[in-house]
Amino acid sequence: MRVGKIFGIDIVINLSWLFIFAFVAWALADVGPFRDVSMLPAQRVTLGIITALLFFGSVLAHELAHSLVARSRGIPIKQITLFMFGGVSNLEGEPGTAPVEAWISFVGPLTSLVLGAIFFSLSLLLGPRTPLGVATEYLGYANIVLGIFNLLPAFPLDGGRVLHALVWRITKSRYRATQIAAGIGRLLAGLFILYGIFATLYFGFDNALSGLWMVFIGWFLLQAGTAEETHAELEHALQGLTAADIAEAPPVALPADATADVVLQTMMRTGRRAFPVMLGDRLLGIVSLGDFVKLGDRPPGAAYVTSLMTRLEDLHSVTPTTQATDVLKLFSQTGVAQIPVIDAGGQLVGFVTRENILRRLPLHRDLRRIAPASPQV
Ligand SMILES: [Zn+2]
Repeated sequence: MRVGKIFGIDIVINLSWLFIFAFVAWALADVGPFRDVSMLPAQRVTLGIITALLFFGSVLAHELAHSLVARSRGIPIKQITLFMFGGVSNLEGEPGTAPVEAWISFVGPLTSLVLGAIFFSLSLLLGPRTPLGVATEYLGYANIVLGIFNLLPAFPLDGGRVLHALVWRITKSRYRATQIAAGIGRLLAGLFILYGIFATLYFGFDNALSGLWMVFIGWFLLQAGTAEETHAELEHALQGLTAADIAEAPPVALPADATADVVLQTMMRTGRRAFPVMLGDRLLGIVSLGDFVKLGDRPPGAAYVTSLMTRLEDLHSVTPTTQATDVLKLFSQTGVAQIPVIDAGGQLVGFVTRENILRRLPLHRDLRRIAPASPQV
């Protein structure tokens, strides 16, 4: 759900965020820091909501810090997503050098720590037993925790990315750095999970919730770290290859006057999901299984393929010499299932599918088993 735009960056909130927001507002007002402060019920609720809003504003400030520094280093930002565990800045590219990565990663926790110090100072000014004093003290505490937690060297947390940048600087290999940082991240995530299980089993019900929360965070870190590592392995495996190298030859072309039932029959016969549509030797577009939603109520025998297909001018396509790593980027940006490779003369050279790219992964893993990744000294 899009809620607004700050500095030209879309701010999107996940539904889980609304749930957590309600929970935080309730917990603050009812069982949290305001419990011992004498206030009217209405004041209590209002202050709970305001404090929750300021807390999420703090999370947003943390993400904005990442995003604005990244943009100042030439990395475009599409959006910031706020969800259950905090926020994610969607960078549309990767930092080109280790110092840039370190700075982009570090500035988020730094912002949180500075905000924490500001809120703590405010709470001292406002007095420890006043409602506003308690609220700012809580916000100071929350920001410090946010800053310190994110500085843990558990990739892909910010601290893990700083570690990644350091290893990258030392080994001169970004890929090697990802392997090492992801390995340490897995170890820490595993410790989180083990500790969470231990706390849940031995420390009684009061600690069971925070124990389960630890397990949840550990599991989340494990997932996120593995996803980043797989992406890095893919990029590494695709290094030096072009779209033409990884494309598969186009299947039989369909003539422009083919009807939808012919398309379905061809799909079933060949087991492929996308076909070029040609008029003579001119490529008009591509029809894929997903295009059948455009069929509507029409009987498949009465609908021409040209009314279903995605037209050439609307397609995300690449040229044979496009770097395979750029094709990978296009996949993650567009979410399409296949990308046609079209040469300068407008001829369809082939398709790259997600499977074509993923197929490179086991091959690469096997190769690594045969050849050591770094020279032995
Ligand atoms: Zn961060």
